[in-house]
Amino acid sequence: MNTVFVQERPRLTNTYASDHLLRTYLEWKLGRDLLASIERELLELGELAAGSLFELQRADRCNEPTFTQWDPWGSRIDRIEVTAVWREAEQLAVRLGLIATPYERQVGAWSRTRQLALVYLFHPVTDVYSCPLAMTDGAARTLLESHNSRLIDRAVPHLTSRDPAEFWTSGQWMTESTGGSDVGLSRTTAACDASGVWRLHGKKWFTSAANSQIALTLARPEGNGPGGSGLALFYLETRRADRSLNGIRIERLKDKLGTRKVPTAELTLDGTVAELVAGITDGTRAIEPMLKITRTWNSVCAVASMRHALALAQDYASRRRAFGATLAEHPLHRETLAELEAVAAGAFLLTFFVIELLGREEAGLLDEDEKSLLRLLTPIVKLATGKQAVQVVSEALEAFGGAGYIEDTGIPVLLRDTQVLPIWEGTTNVLSLDALLRADPERGLAALRRWMQRATSGVGDGEFSASAGIAAAAVDHASRWLSSIQDRALLQAGARRFALTLARAVELALLVEYGKSMRQEPPIKAGQDWCQRLRRAGIDCIQD
Ligand SMILES: Cc1cc2nc3c(=O)[nH]c(=O)nc-3n(C[C@H](O)[C@H](O)[C@H](O)COP(=O)(O)OP(=O)(O)OC[C@H]3O[C@@H](n4cnc5c(N)ncnc54)[C@H](O)[C@@H]3O)c2cc1C
Repeated sequence: MNTVFVQERPRLTNTYASDHLLRTYLEWKLGRDLLASIERELLELGELAAGSLFELQRADRCNEPTFTQWDPWGSRIDRIEVTAVWREAEQLAVRLGLIATPYERQVGAWSRTRQLALVYLFHPVTDVYSCPLAMTDGAARTLLESHNSRLIDRAVPHLTSRDPAEFWTSGQWMTESTGGSDVGLSRTTAACDASGVWRLHGKKWFTSAANSQIALTLARPEGNGPGGSGLALFYLETRRADRSLNGIRIERLKDKLGTRKVPTAELTLDGTVAELVAGITDGTRAIEPMLKITRTWNSVCAVASMRHALALAQDYASRRRAFGATLAEHPLHRETLAELEAVAAGAFLLTFFVIELLGREEAGLLDEDEKSLLRLLTPIVKLATGKQAVQVVSEALEAFGGAGYIEDTGIPVLLRDTQVLPIWEGTTNVLSLDALLRADPERGLAALRRWMQRATSGVGDGEFSASAGIAAAAVDHASRWLSSIQDRALLQAGARRFALTLARAVELALLVEYGKSMRQEPPIKAGQDWCQRLRRAGIDCIQD
């Protein structure tokens, strides 16, 4: 008997063509004709994601961004070089219009769905290049909503360009060492000289995309009061016309658990010339459009990470044998993966539901109920999918056994990169408190109940009807909890359970709606199985 055994590695096939949920979802929402008009780019990216990009990512696995502070002759240069995958990813992102698409709005209210379906395929194989892209998209949205025509004319055409030579990325420099959640503690100051030029002084503690061309940042104009309302939102260009840094020193790159391809830096602003975006106060309010966009991208990256890890684990299950059968033939292994798939499917539908609402908002089509729903669900989708991604990717890693723990299989990095998703763009607790504020019984929660009623009506008896009932009961339970608690401390202590209850209830209702909308047998069956499994995972987290 040959004692040498070589295990086949997991492989991907076209990640669009093989993603049944994504394809059926897009056909359901966009209709066959509209989907056909954009399907080429999805197929193309799906092919790259399973082929050359996936291979490039494997080949580039050990490389990280480099930071050079001094040139050989003693000049401070503070230069960051990014990896090969990042350079390739930027070209591809610009060519595919990953930022341009929602601003060109070629497919109307579905332009966000089109864009973020591409991002969903792009993210897993581009080493978190989605991070600077998310902030770039957020910056474009923020500038447009500021109505600052000078800055809009200056920057937005670059941020949304399809020409790599013209394209700019943007950073979002909010977090200081005093606090990322409580940015009102920020100490960066802004002073305006006699000629009307603003200069910033301070330290920014976490700046991903430190090598971007522009950044939106917060600083406190001299004389302003404390807290977030005393901060102003500033626009800055990182380099002067002569290419020297604009009063910015890059102190070091962070040594991080994951996202190691992302050059996250600590910066000193020392006389950085900047421009006010929207007034001299209320910077935390002015930057809200940025957060809305980056939190949506975060959710897409979360569901994309789940899908990627599961696609690899499912393929591996058909190649790896144990106890006389492939892993896929063992009922318990199959069930383990199926449970994860149900969680990922719920998260996918929740994310793309919020994206649908965002696209309709940008097209000016939202009614009052939908506005309340979007407001309520934006923090909820981010916090829920971030948590679910860590859970699913961690389990998917175990599905490879020991191989999942070995660096050069490329599996461990999936978990490390996923672990950031609940932290940046607002932690789970901070977003849960935000959700609590947005859960007005008369508006957000009432709109949620009405939507749920509509989405799950007419499902008849059986699994879908049982699931619809459980989802509605969980929302009722959470609403009763909210109105029964007067004590602020108790409310805050329960905020995370409250937000997760709403998230899972909406996910379950969306699975029912998806199953209902599919006419052919396999998706209905899948929809029912997903509902059952999601229910078993527990919907109602609120305890009396
Ligand atoms: C890889 C990486 C890249 C990043 N890139 C950027 C960037 O480009 N730009 C940028 O501005 N920031 C960036 N950040 C910073 C990130 O946004 C912050 O780390 C995050 O917002 C949390 O802030 P903090 O680290 O100060 O934690 P803290 O605010 O100190 O929070 C610590 C813990 O306390 C909890 N907590 C805080 N307040 C409350 C409360 N009221 N009630 C209950 N719990 C609470 C939090 O949930 C958290 O668990 C990045 C972070 C990472 C890890």
